[in-house]
Amino acid sequence: MTEMMRAAILKDVAHFEVEQVPKPQITEPDEVLIKVLVCSICGTDVNVSGTMAYGSKDLHGEILGHELVGEIVETGSAVTGLRVGQRVVVNPNSYCCKCPSCRAGYRNHCENMKLMGLTVAGGFAEYVKTKEFLAFPISQDVPLNHAAFAEPLSCAMNGFSRLNITPGDTCVVFGCGPIGLLFAQLARASGARVACVEIKENRMAIARKLGLDVYMAGPDVKEKLMQKWGRRANFCIDAAGGQLVTAIDYAEYRGTILCFAGPRTAKEGWNFGPIQGKELTIMGSFIINDSMHRAVTVLESGMLNLDPLVTHILPLEELDKGIALMKSGEGMEIIMEIGK
Ligand SMILES: [Zn+2]
Ligand SMILES: [Zn+2]
Repeated sequence: MTEMMRAAILKDVAHFEVEQVPKPQITEPDEVLIKVLVCSICGTDVNVSGTMAYGSKDLHGEILGHELVGEIVETGSAVTGLRVGQRVVVNPNSYCCKCPSCRAGYRNHCENMKLMGLTVAGGFAEYVKTKEFLAFPISQDVPLNHAAFAEPLSCAMNGFSRLNITPGDTCVVFGCGPIGLLFAQLARASGARVACVEIKENRMAIARKLGLDVYMAGPDVKEKLMQKWGRRANFCIDAAGGQLVTAIDYAEYRGTILCFAGPRTAKEGWNFGPIQGKELTIMGSFIINDSMHRAVTVLESGMLNLDPLVTHILPLEELDKGIALMKSGEGMEIIMEIGK
């Protein structure tokens, strides 16, 4: 008889139903089966449940979710580095190790990438399976609601590692969602003077709770920062999207801009001259390359204040509500409790 499990199935636009579906089975020797404890909602889950598609893939009837924390309950015959009972977080982006990108060390640009919760079954379910090399042990001392940050934090840290922020630098972070507030805390932990720019009051309040200097986006912000810092920003991090032009304006000479969120469509009349005149470095960042183990270390060290970022903890049955809360911007980090 097929073993079954509970999973939230995407039925319609932003609508999930919890159903009994077959439990995943280990079929390859290097796989591990994970009992999901919690899985938080990513902006990607909100976007794709709104369009019901990821690229050319139709997502009707699929299981989303890729920011999960779980416990190993079974290991394939070739698994040597993980054992049953271990708590793990997961890199949801499976790379092939064989394509030119993987061979060059850019595994986040793998040509044969499989994405948990998008192209293969995800974590809004009681069980999920993955490859041994994609599961990372994390201490049981890290609260589950903090461990759930491992995937978004490793995405942020992949971008952050491209910057070289040192004490005395100035840094502007655009966007006070969970990712923006992780960046702001990492920059502060690196010794920078940090300012956050946001448009939503509820998110500004959470940034203040973290002790961050936060400004309502507007034409006066640059002047306020100049007065406070005596110079522009050595580093600008766009965690909101579409802030490249503002970031170019805020950037100090030889400044660096990280486009973590997409620069979006270039509008006519944008002046990219300062990229040359100010000797700027503009960077992009895409998912996780080799930052997962460092994210686990950061979470285990307790250096980041994460509790204010977790605004809602919901049962799997309320995934629709979670998606709506994220979409409205009222929700920040929303954690679905599954097997806790
Ligand atoms: Zn994500
Ligand atoms: Zn590859």
